[in-house]
Amino acid sequence: MLVDGYGREVSYLRLSVTDRCNLNCFYCRSGQELDYLAHENILSYEEMVALARAARALRVEKLRLTGGEPFARRDFLAFLGLLRENCPDLDVRITTNATLLGGKAAAVKHLGVRRINISMDTLDPARFREITGRDMLDRVLAAIDECLALHLRVKINVVAMKGVNDSELPAFVRLACDKPVDVRFIEFMPIGAATRWNDAATWTAREIVARAGEMVRLTPVERHSRAEGPARLYTIAGGRGRLGVISPLSDHFCKSCNRLRVTSDGRLRTCLFSDKEYRLRPALRHPHLGLERVVDIMRRALRTKPLGHELLEMRRRAQVCDRVMSSIGG
Ligand code: SAM
Repeated sequence: MLVDGYGREVSYLRLSVTDRCNLNCFYCRSGQELDYLAHENILSYEEMVALARAARALRVEKLRLTGGEPFARRDFLAFLGLLRENCPDLDVRITTNATLLGGKAAAVKHLGVRRINISMDTLDPARFREITGRDMLDRVLAAIDECLALHLRVKINVVAMKGVNDSELPAFVRLACDKPVDVRFIEFMPIGAATRWNDAATWTAREIVARAGEMVRLTPVERHSRAEGPARLYTIAGGRGRLGVISPLSDHFCKSCNRLRVTSDGRLRTCLFSDKEYRLRPALRHPHLGLERVVDIMRRALRTKPLGHELLEMRRRAQVCDRVMSSIGG
């Protein structure tokens, strides 16, 4: 089992399968021209499977595949097949912008994935273009319906940004009423050098719940364990879906953090808010060190996993860490 210096048990690994993304969301990549990693510096799928096996042996239960955009990496479906073969009891989930998911949901389900998180920050096509630089909202909406028709569990993640999408709360509430999805608002986080985050853009979870509560009757869903994740969810009277908020800034959940992150170039990050990274790739590629060394690095790194929120509180610049979200994986 993996336990950190504060006694927090790690049961969840977020693995970024690529740093490439077909969207250019201003809040995620900070509108920067990014140099993508050279292919040889990205972990191969076989190396990622080896990592997943090591994590599973350490009682990690949940693996979230993220990016960049996971579906933008070639042969991503084949990778899902490899994972299923090698780690059949790992709960594999995907976070995606869903623009490349269309036509693949049945295969994804067949390969053992039951839950998909879809990032969609607006229901307005023009605003989608402004946020992402692409004209692809219709693809995302179609992919959501495709997943729901296959009874996949869909969570829709909306980055909550005042002055950007706060006027769309009624439309998102309607979406959660009409479809069996969890629509979850995530507070905009100050991640990445040149982030456009600022106080004025902050739209807090509390404000969101209060405003939505004026539109529909919300009932908090009781939480049974911390493994259920950081979202606070509400059922909607007469609605098919649920509404949720994730509040990393206004009401952080660092005390119960159970996750580790590995970037596509094989760097272990123990805290989203810290740029401290531990290089796993050399050990994974070394002919004699291999997985034993990887596990050793993980255990050592965990001893100093930060509490998290103290980094936010101490920050002197706009951003809490330099690496942009699209290269960390969210
Ligand atoms: N391309 C995939 C997607 O769009 O879901 C996976 C990668 S993306 C980096 C993962 C998640 O991070 C998305 O839900 C995105 O909205 C979220 N995200 C990116 N930057 C963020 C920020 N500054 N604050 C809060 N969430 C952010």
